[in-house]
Amino acid sequence: MTTIDSLPPLRDVINTHDLKARKSLGQNFLLDLNLTAKIARQAGDMSGCDVFEIGPGPGGLTRGLLAEGARHVLAIEKDKRCLPALNEIAQAYPNRLTVIEGDALEIDPLAYLTPPIRIAANLPYNVGTELLVRWLTPTEWPPFWESLTLMFQREVAERIVAKPGSKAYGRLALLAQWRSDARIVMNLPPEAFTPPPKVSSAVVHLTALAEPRFPADAAVLSRVVAMAFNQRRKMLRSALKAAAPDIEDRLIAAGLKPTERAEQVSLEGFCALARELAKP
Ligand code: SAM
Repeated sequence: MTTIDSLPPLRDVINTHDLKARKSLGQNFLLDLNLTAKIARQAGDMSGCDVFEIGPGPGGLTRGLLAEGARHVLAIEKDKRCLPALNEIAQAYPNRLTVIEGDALEIDPLAYLTPPIRIAANLPYNVGTELLVRWLTPTEWPPFWESLTLMFQREVAERIVAKPGSKAYGRLALLAQWRSDARIVMNLPPEAFTPPPKVSSAVVHLTALAEPRFPADAAVLSRVVAMAFNQRRKMLRSALKAAAPDIEDRLIAAGLKPTERAEQVSLEGFCALARELAKP
């Protein structure tokens, strides 16, 4: 029995089900249920929402989300050793938890979810950035999710919220900030996890905006940003040479200096450039 529910403490769950953490699956577990409940609260009022959780592991965050009132949680876990422990949680919260064994990169969660939908996860580091980029780059906006509450390595979290002129500023910041509000809401030291990872972590909360901050074609913006930051030390006129034969004119038309470097260009500047590049 714990402070947040009537299930056993997570250390007992791990011992009972022999859930020794595997590095290959990015397994660094959160065992403090007060901490997982606190992370769950960062997702806001979930009483009217379905929550999609990736990588529940032994279920610490899952229990936090349910105890904090999520209407329904869909949890997808790749490691089948975790399923018996997760099924015990499903029994303690009848009709509120669906557990799927599988790879988050391969399933279509929409088959199981009813809007409004929020996403919350202590992400496996090896797939975290790929999933985030997918969630940020659908062709249609607004996306299927209202908000994302995600644990990342601190360094990745800083890249998501970075502003122009900083070393962390790049593609991730621009994709995240173009169509969402992104904030770091919690910092966690390595000792918060079992086993402790080598680096610190942070929880980032992203809220989808109803519309992008500035108009631009998603594919063009994504391409030009990737190109510009691939050679971030070069001036825009050479980093983007392959984007258009008259790139200098287009940079000037977008209000940018051809001699500027990518890390000095604001989101508004990149959107203006994407609009210029979309012209015939
Ligand atoms: N949520 C748990 C917690 O906070 O203690 C576990 C977090 S652990 C950092 C990441 C979890 O994601 C592990 O349980 C791992 O097995 C699972 N995982 C790794 N790759 C996955 C994938 N592609 N799809 C779904 N789950 C995955």
